[in-house]
Amino acid sequence: MNSLTEEQSRILIIDDSVTSIRLLSAILKDLGRIWFATSGEAGIALAREHQPQLIFLDVEMPVMNGYEVCKLLKENADTRDASIIFITGQSSIESEIQALEAGAVDFITKPLNQPVVRARACTQLKVQRQAAALLSLANRDGLTGLFNRRYFNEMIELEFLRHKRQGLSLGLAFIDIDHFKAFNDGYGHLEGDTCLSMVAQTIELGTKRPGEIVARYGGEEFVAILPHTTLEDARKYGAWLCEKIYALKLPHQFSSCGNVVTISVGVAALVPSEKCTIRQLIDAADQALYRAKAAGRNRVIASDSA
Ligand code: GH3
Ligand code: MG
Ligand code: MG
Ligand code: MG
Repeated sequence: MNSLTEEQSRILIIDDSVTSIRLLSAILKDLGRIWFATSGEAGIALAREHQPQLIFLDVEMPVMNGYEVCKLLKENADTRDASIIFITGQSSIESEIQALEAGAVDFITKPLNQPVVRARACTQLKVQRQAAALLSLANRDGLTGLFNRRYFNEMIELEFLRHKRQGLSLGLAFIDIDHFKAFNDGYGHLEGDTCLSMVAQTIELGTKRPGEIVARYGGEEFVAILPHTTLEDARKYGAWLCEKIYALKLPHQFSSCGNVVTISVGVAALVPSEKCTIRQLIDAADQALYRAKAAGRNRVIASDSA
């Protein structure tokens, strides 16, 4: 099996010639999942829906030609990162330049040569996979493997807008390990790192509903985005998480609130509107966390101010 098939690659063919589509499909069929469209308009709709990594785009099509389709694909955030390979009957330097200027990464002339088409498709799928791997590294925290704060910042913006559009309650939880400085001082930094990773994994495993995202916010502090969640449900989540971490029974003889590792959680929730900001939601959860610490730790406090 070709190694390119292992990651569900998605390929879209846009060509008004059914013969061309048949030929391309036959050449590419084992490289991933293939969709096809016989017009630019249908192709753009499919690209938005399935977000293919690779698009073969015919230049000569009625109504909307390949250059116009390419321009629209590049203007849309959902489709602009796809690699676009133009297919054309005209081979001239001018048309090649025009294709590259429109945002294509490659250019193939008809009649289609099977090995050439395959080789170029493989190259672009490899480029796409490498870009995806880099992006995922950039979004992850090195120690715990959780998403990092940069990714959290991006996602909270998106979720805030989505919940505003839908008029739904968005929950947020700040989670902080109790007396972790004392843990490091008592057991050493390496033990501290191991403890941090175990707590991180437990939080991540416990935060698996659709759309939920946990990130390392910094140091020994984590943050969870809780879509479609009311304040009461966020509080229940926080209480449940406290129990989960307590149940790990990771020894912490230097803690003043028990002899095992515990966490404190602050939660907030709101239905985003014109009148409120992401900052407000973050501050409310953060202040609730502060109150959970002050109230004795190993507990959740729900904000009354978001
Ligand atoms: P509190 O219960 O109020 O949260 O007290 P705390 O000691 O947990 O809080 P404080 O902010 O005083 O200390 C946080 C500690 O977390 C300090 C630092 O040594 C430790 N820490 C932060 N990041 C890491 C890390 O990546 N690895 C390790 N081992 N320790 C870390
Ligand atoms: Mg054509
Ligand atoms: Mg702490
Ligand atoms: Mg802290």
